[in-house]
Amino acid sequence: MQDKIIIAGPCAAESEEQLMATANAIRSSYDGPLIFRAGVWKPRTNPNTFQGIGEQALEWLQRIQQCMNIAVATEVATASHVVQAIQMGIDYLWIGARTSANPIQVQALTDTIAQELKKSPTHRLKGIMIKNPMHQDAALWLGNIERMEHLGIPIWAVHRGCGHLPAWEMAYTLHQSRPDIPLLIDPSHMSGDKESIAPLLTNAWALQYDGAMIETHIHPQDALSDAQQQLSPDELKTLLSIPIPTTKDHELLWLRSAIDEVDNQLWDLIEHRMSIANQIGMHKRKQSLAIVQQERFQHILNKRLIWAQNHQVSDKLVQTVMHAIHDESINVQER
Ligand code: PEP
Ligand code: MN
Repeated sequence: MQDKIIIAGPCAAESEEQLMATANAIRSSYDGPLIFRAGVWKPRTNPNTFQGIGEQALEWLQRIQQCMNIAVATEVATASHVVQAIQMGIDYLWIGARTSANPIQVQALTDTIAQELKKSPTHRLKGIMIKNPMHQDAALWLGNIERMEHLGIPIWAVHRGCGHLPAWEMAYTLHQSRPDIPLLIDPSHMSGDKESIAPLLTNAWALQYDGAMIETHIHPQDALSDAQQQLSPDELKTLLSIPIPTTKDHELLWLRSAIDEVDNQLWDLIEHRMSIANQIGMHKRKQSLAIVQQERFQHILNKRLIWAQNHQVSDKLVQTVMHAIHDESINVQER
């Protein structure tokens, strides 16, 4: 694990005590290279939830950096965040998934970073981490990396998935075009729950990821944001002791990771389709309509066969899958 970049710390800075206690506990349970993370400004869905402490928390991060001799990282989403974070000597900045979706904003942040670096040649900025956008768009992720590369400081890609979908294929696309950019995983936001973190991290280690960002809180159950996915420092210690798997065929593992994810989506969609079929069944019963309506099935089958003419899917597969789905739909409606 010693050659991996580990970034750990709470989702959000909540108090100086919480930050100090978390940083101390992480430091005493993991002695490899460590960057301490904490969100100061939090991009939250709902305005009535905790939005982050704001600039006051930069002083707390600065004290951790100075007292514990540890590098610190925070998220920046506006030009004013950039100015404040660089002036307070934050070592690493990260661009979050929501900001990463907006190239105009990423360019504005890039320009402000460039200005700040020029203004203070003694700055401490050591690198910028760019998370993937919230939607599956490898080209936009790459574009953000290219925008920021001109700054002349190290750029790392952080793969946090899209919502709670890992999007392995997107990360593979980025990695194939830029194998020189360090690739890190954020299994905390990728999964949204503690239990899925270990398998995601293990897969990333097998794929030779360069590091991981893992949300860790001194009292996860009391966290003001992302409580369900934050690990305690002891849980982090256990996670980081998982042996790194040795894999010979990385390309096959990337492709299998991508295909397993498509299978998961396929089955979720099939389940969803059956739940709609169930509603149709109830409606037909209420309206005294026949469950089996052959002309409707012929219509959707023909439509799919026409579609198949311009897609890489054979008629045989369309016939087999559509009949299997339709048979099961009828079973569901007749229940
Ligand atoms: C975070 O790291 O706290 C965060 C908000 O991440 P993301 O942008 O990946 O949702
Ligand atoms: Mn978080």
